[in-house]
Amino acid sequence: MLKRTVIGLFATALALVGGVVAPSASADVHAAAVTITYDDSQAAEFVDVVAQGVAIWNGAVENVQIEKASPGTDADITIIANDGWPQATLGPVFPGGSGTVWYGRQAVDEGYDVVRIAAHELGHNLGLPDMKPGPCSSLMSGSSAGVACTNPNPDAQEIAWVEENYADAEKPIERQTVVIGWLD
Ligand SMILES: [Zn+2]
Repeated sequence: MLKRTVIGLFATALALVGGVVAPSASADVHAAAVTITYDDSQAAEFVDVVAQGVAIWNGAVENVQIEKASPGTDADITIIANDGWPQATLGPVFPGGSGTVWYGRQAVDEGYDVVRIAAHELGHNLGLPDMKPGPCSSLMSGSSAGVACTNPNPDAQEIAWVEENYADAEKPIERQTVVIGWLD
């Protein structure tokens, strides 16, 4: 009898706590889209194709948007042109993070599509791994789809994955320690 009363009180207390906490918690989950910034000051001749890759992602997803960083401010993603194979750090990058895309000219010289490379490497910054081997319809199939593949758009699964990565705007910043290469 006493035990049942105690359990009943406990349940009532939980219900009260739940009633107070739940509304504010659920409001946070659906906060505004996460905005992250990129710096293309070291992107050399790839400035325009990187902007196209950014535009593709901004059009494909809602929970994160990528903007060009204002001059003199710290960007969350840095684009660096070099002579190697394209590489990127694995995100998801959040505000205050430090993602990097190394836009390597070697893949361009081999004939891979320049916008597909940009969108693919940005996909890594948004938290997508490589999905190799894979079809041309998959952005993250990367080099495995061959040089004839010019599709720069993520497929439905890739879009859903990024949306999930940024569904909670309060998610803590993750370490950018894994580097993934175009030919890996
Ligand atoms: Zn890759």
